[in-house]
Amino acid sequence: MTIARRALLAGLACCATCGASLGRLAFAKSIDEIEGCFLKGADVDLVLGARTGENEKLNITRTTGSRALDLALDKGLQRLANTFGIDPTFGFFEDKQPNAFAAPESTDESRTGTVLFGKNLFAELQAADPSGVSVLGVAAHEFAHIWQFHSGHYKRIRGTGPTVKRVELNADFLAGYYLGLRKTAHPNASLWIFGEKLWGLGDMNVFARDHHGTPEERTEAAEAGFKLSFVEKKDVAFAKQAGIDYVQRY
Ligand SMILES: [Zn+2]
Repeated sequence: MTIARRALLAGLACCATCGASLGRLAFAKSIDEIEGCFLKGADVDLVLGARTGENEKLNITRTTGSRALDLALDKGLQRLANTFGIDPTFGFFEDKQPNAFAAPESTDESRTGTVLFGKNLFAELQAADPSGVSVLGVAAHEFAHIWQFHSGHYKRIRGTGPTVKRVELNADFLAGYYLGLRKTAHPNASLWIFGEKLWGLGDMNVFARDHHGTPEERTEAAEAGFKLSFVEKKDVAFAKQAGIDYVQRY
């Protein structure tokens, strides 16, 4: 992959790669212009449909198109909500590039934030990994972003560096922790596809070194979280603190 292509994809792809949106000055006109996966300011309005005029309005749906998949997804999302202690609105949108986003706000005031999952990203992940673990791994990363924002720990996680690298690595750490819980519940489940797709050498490994951490750093963060649950059987409160401590090294 050329550097130019990598840079382009880094701006379009999400949580495999996400993060840069927090530091941007200009707001996107279309969701496909949004860099990174954590939305702030006017980009939230874009996603939640509050913006009008030149900006496209997102068509957000809640179904995968399959009743069985919907049920499995709902179960997974409920588990994520319980694990992270948040209850975001979840929906699908038409992503031109495989993509997913988290926003701290929701149109439903009873919910904590919003997770938007691209239909193309969903289809791509399900095709590579029909177990659904990959989808829930990405969703876990997005849930982690919402938790960061609502936990009161965002500033400590973010630090004062020029990029959101620590925010991303913390989300990877917590996604790894969540996958360790799933592996504990289903010891025979293979997480190889997920790791390869998101943290290793797969197509979605389109990173900006300074923004998101290298693949090695992302894998290391995810594995550290995974070890806490699968090997050390630590509870989620322990993992949340450990994840904050973990990124202080960067
Ligand atoms: Zn992210």
